[in-house]
Amino acid sequence: MVYHIPSDEDILTAVEKVFQKYHIVTSQHALKKLVEKELQSTKKHLHVSGPRLRTLVLNSGKARVEIRTREGDPKKILNKCPVCGGVLQRVKNQTIYGGEVTIEFRCAVCGYWTGKKKKIPTLYVFHVD
Ligand SMILES: [Zn+2]
Repeated sequence: MVYHIPSDEDILTAVEKVFQKYHIVTSQHALKKLVEKELQSTKKHLHVSGPRLRTLVLNSGKARVEIRTREGDPKKILNKCPVCGGVLQRVKNQTIYGGEVTIEFRCAVCGYWTGKKKKIPTLYVFHVD
């Protein structure tokens, strides 16, 4: 079986059609299935990887994502957003008492944020407002 790789434009056109029908898609896997179904209505054997699809959708602003996470390794260094590949901004929060500073990292593109225990995304819910 030969797999064909669709262009970003093909994927985003299919994504738009999916979001016209469904305003909430409850996982990345479900979104991938729906988008591939749209893609395959024009050309057979078009496939897209979940992470590529997610990154494209979030950077296009066609949907916002609600991210479920679990706690990860505090020693892990995040060079970029694990959700959309965006730049993580370092935010310092000064607590009122004692002057303790906590460091958080936030992504301006998709809204991912994490504290010391680097949050690992486990589920993505896509919403169209
Ligand atoms: Zn992000």
